Amino acid sequence: MTAVYLSLGSNLGPREEMLRRALAALQDAGLAVPRVSSLYETEPQDLPDQPWFLNLVAEIETALPPLQLLDCIQRIEHALGRRREVDKGPRMIDIDILLYGSLAIDTPRLAIPHPRLASRRFVLEPLAELAPDLRHPVTGDTVAEMLKAVAGQTVRRV
Ligand code: ADP
Ligand code: MG
Repeated sequence: MTAVYLSLGSNLGPREEMLRRALAALQDAGLAVPRVSSLYETEPQDLPDQPWFLNLVAEIETALPPLQLLDCIQRIEHALGRRREVDKGPRMIDIDILLYGSLAIDTPRLAIPHPRLASRRFVLEPLAELAPDLRHPVTGDTVAEMLKAVAGQTVRRV
């Protein structure tokens, strides 16, 4: 089993309920979810004119290889009502793979570590709660170091 970190976010519908349903769906799909961060209310990044997000990070344990894990989270996104809407716009649920052990891959369908991990405070803040000393497999920076280097984005622990 490899320790994997997922980012979950919602800014449409009953946000907290959507996150809870996504966590339950991950468990129903057979993934272990040993640890979950606090909830954070966060300022939208890529497309500013939209509601604020609720975000959390979950540590999971899975035997699924990366692409099968992506299939699994995309099935869950779809089952929870996510539809292709505005790119970077409001969504009921977004589940991203942040880190998959020390794996580094970069393909059109899947990039791990998540390419924007180091620039997203809404991801680093909850991740630092769970694993501040974890290192980015490519840059070697710890989560705490990456978090110190990002500024400007409002992130409130709920
Ligand atoms: P975003 O999360 O960037 O706002 P989407 O959730 O719509 O946008 O994802 C777009 C695509 O990103 C997915 O179809 C998936 O193939 C790809 N992708 C690449 N790397 C990852 C990753 N680490 N986690 C989740 N999706 C990824
Ligand atoms: Mg996504």
